[in-house]
Amino acid sequence: MNAIIVSVGNELTSGQTVDTNSAYLSRRIAEFGICPLAHWTVGDSRRDIAEAIARASGSADVVIVSGGLGPTADDQTRQAVAEALGCELVLDEGCLARIEEFFRARGRVMGEANRIQAMAPRGAELLENKVGTAPGLFARIGEAAVFVVPGVPSEMEWMFDNQIAPRLPRNSGVTIHRTIHTFGAGESDVGTRILDLMQKTGPVLVGTTVAAGMVSIRIISRGKTGQEAQAQSEEVAQEVKRRLGELVIGEGSQSMAARVGEMLRERRQTLATAESCTGGLLGQMITSVPGASDYYLGGVISYANRVKEQLLGVEARVIAEHGAVSEEVAGAMAHGARKLMGSDWAISITGVAGPGGSSAEKPVGLVWMALAGPGGVKTSKTLWGGTREIIRVRAALNAINMLRLELMNR
Ligand code: ATP
Ligand code: MG
Repeated sequence: MNAIIVSVGNELTSGQTVDTNSAYLSRRIAEFGICPLAHWTVGDSRRDIAEAIARASGSADVVIVSGGLGPTADDQTRQAVAEALGCELVLDEGCLARIEEFFRARGRVMGEANRIQAMAPRGAELLENKVGTAPGLFARIGEAAVFVVPGVPSEMEWMFDNQIAPRLPRNSGVTIHRTIHTFGAGESDVGTRILDLMQKTGPVLVGTTVAAGMVSIRIISRGKTGQEAQAQSEEVAQEVKRRLGELVIGEGSQSMAARVGEMLRERRQTLATAESCTGGLLGQMITSVPGASDYYLGGVISYANRVKEQLLGVEARVIAEHGAVSEEVAGAMAHGARKLMGSDWAISITGVAGPGGSSAEKPVGLVWMALAGPGGVKTSKTLWGGTREIIRVRAALNAINMLRLELMNR
């Protein structure tokens, strides 16, 4: 069983928006054993959309179209489906009432333009959209099952789970994707430890990808049933975790900050931060986790030496002697932040993010980090290449990782 995915919008063909819907839909249909044949992108022209839908339904079992269901004149997908079906659009009173209610519930009045969203080609089914105003469509064109959903990614995802997935034709086989994230070792090092698993061709495929200093292991398991695919995937995942040990930080969408947050919450401990070259990035990562207020007290962005001295109590003498980017200053920053906020733990970062500000002794990419805790202060140094942004992200991740390892090993 196979599928063609069609994305609609001038913002996509012009390059203003990157098409992420197709990638998402491809991953999701694979879970149902449906093989994506192609991604097609067309602009907002009714003729082009209709032609794409007609051609796709002639060559694939499933066609999923996203975008162009809005109420404005440039949203032509609904009309294009009618054209591909050779049917006219008719108003669905029940659907119109639901859209009016959607606006009423948000204290707004539905505009006249939104009426079009309650229209469907004769012979097509309207798919209710509980997270937006534009309902989707489901139609059979020839042998193909054709689904049409709004382009807004969050609405498209909701529509996939609630409207498309239950209607997908069942196939002989299920594919499950799983991702395990690691931090602290390079891709080749991780790859060597799981080489034999990566070389297998078999119902379970293992591969690695790198992003922002994190190496992730992808596990794709294919089985006759969901249960079989799940069991195979679990077996390989356990083996990967066993081999990679404390490098493993989490799975799926779990971030390092979320993992550390869990550990702090379990221990009822608190955290503070003191940042120089990352300028708040560490605090941002920590607070992007819902519920971070349970353990995160706050941070000081001590960019200037005067702030390091006055807020964190770093001695001017220490800065003068060792420089702001030094083991001594990092340690004093963490110690000062812990004292200032009265937290169990404090993490500090000071480094040269570049591109300027380096010296022979302190090159771009040199970062000192420190962790102050009940047992005293520990420091750590890293030196990476890369752009300013990469250096900052890696520094923040590495600093959180210091705390993760400390908490794991206590
Ligand atoms: P709406 O009722 O919200 O207008 P729509 O079906 O008309 O729904 P579009 O106008 O095509 O949706 O897109 C709405 C938003 O979703 C835009 O911000 C657009 O950039 C984004 N979007 C649309 N298609 C994609 C896509 N394939 N990948 C990522 N983002 C997309
Ligand atoms: Mg639109």
